[in-house]
Amino acid sequence: MPSVAPLDASKLTVELTKQPKELPPTSSLVFGQTFTDHMLTVKWSLEKGWQAPEIKPYGPLQLDPSSTVLHYAAELFEGMKAYRDKQGRCRLFRPDLNMRRMNSSAKRLAFPTFDGEVLTELIKELVRVDERFVPDEEGCSLYIRPTMIGTRASLGVGPSTEVLLFVIMSPVAKYYASGAKPVSLLASTKDVRAWPGGSGAYKLGANYGPCVAPQLEAAQQGYQQVLWVLGEDDEVTEVGMMNFFGAKDLGNGAVELFTPPLGDIILPGVTRDSVLALARAHADPSNPFRLEGVPDKLVVSERRVCMPELRDAARDGTLREVYGTGTAAIVTSVERIGYEGADVQVPVEGDGGFGPVAGAFYDVLQEIQYGSREFADWSVLV
Ligand SMILES: *Cc1c(COP(=O)(O)O)cnc(C)c1O
Repeated sequence: MPSVAPLDASKLTVELTKQPKELPPTSSLVFGQTFTDHMLTVKWSLEKGWQAPEIKPYGPLQLDPSSTVLHYAAELFEGMKAYRDKQGRCRLFRPDLNMRRMNSSAKRLAFPTFDGEVLTELIKELVRVDERFVPDEEGCSLYIRPTMIGTRASLGVGPSTEVLLFVIMSPVAKYYASGAKPVSLLASTKDVRAWPGGSGAYKLGANYGPCVAPQLEAAQQGYQQVLWVLGEDDEVTEVGMMNFFGAKDLGNGAVELFTPPLGDIILPGVTRDSVLALARAHADPSNPFRLEGVPDKLVVSERRVCMPELRDAARDGTLREVYGTGTAAIVTSVERIGYEGADVQVPVEGDGGFGPVAGAFYDVLQEIQYGSREFADWSVLV
């Protein structure tokens, strides 16, 4: 057995671009269309293990046309961001969770795994090299896209004996440039995003291509995003590419915050985990942490949610809020859900449509991400 090398940040080589790009004005940025000067690449092979990481000018990859990624969708990705704080320093938000999820996706594809702290170090170095691309305007950030692809040149379906890990980065404006707006959803009972025993809990590219056509169908019917529901009970799973949250009155001033439990059909979102942790801290009387504007009596549930429950709660006036969470927009409120030919109306407030619960998370998460408020060890200096 050859001894295979682990991922090693000390072997990093850096080749700087000779043609630095002009910095794009933040106002002109379209999500994911502008990239920084450099990228990180690391090759892996079954024989040698992880090779020396390279930071080099951003540019096209060369792939054999028989590479497994091009035939069998041997691909996984992550989504995270670098934020600039008031002192001008760059920060990551809970990168350990992205690394953990990336390794779990890698296992699902029979790809090699790696030490997440080492990749975080390499990502930090890439952010340092392209630091000028991290916007300093409020709400703007640098989107980071770690990716792994199977590069074995063979049409045989089998383990990827060669893999390329790469990281590219894209400066992004505030997700909703003209201010946050609530969205409309169409509950998809025909097309399914994830199912028991499937791969929906992993960030595999193969899960996303098939979501585009249902999205276009929803748009044709006048809805902005798909609410993915599953099975005969119309179990609610996710909102587009976001995790689902709802808030409901329990009476006596108590509010329940609910989201579907993790498992085969739910992507374990970093934002989802953060919202739950903040909500539990708020609900714990022995913890001094409080979410402003959120009722003290907050019951936090990870449980099944089905469309008939939401419809009934909207009818009897106990449904308070519905929203999606994810790294891109943080919190997106929902104003109506098309279901069985009618709209389930959700109360919305103000311009962003945020109710008190969603609004509190939207504010607090940004404070933590941009380093103006501390919570646990979530914000990590680059
Ligand atoms: C990435 C993703 C999310 C959100 O995850 P975050 O880590 O919070 O960005 C939710 N649902 C799906 C399907 C996703 O792909």
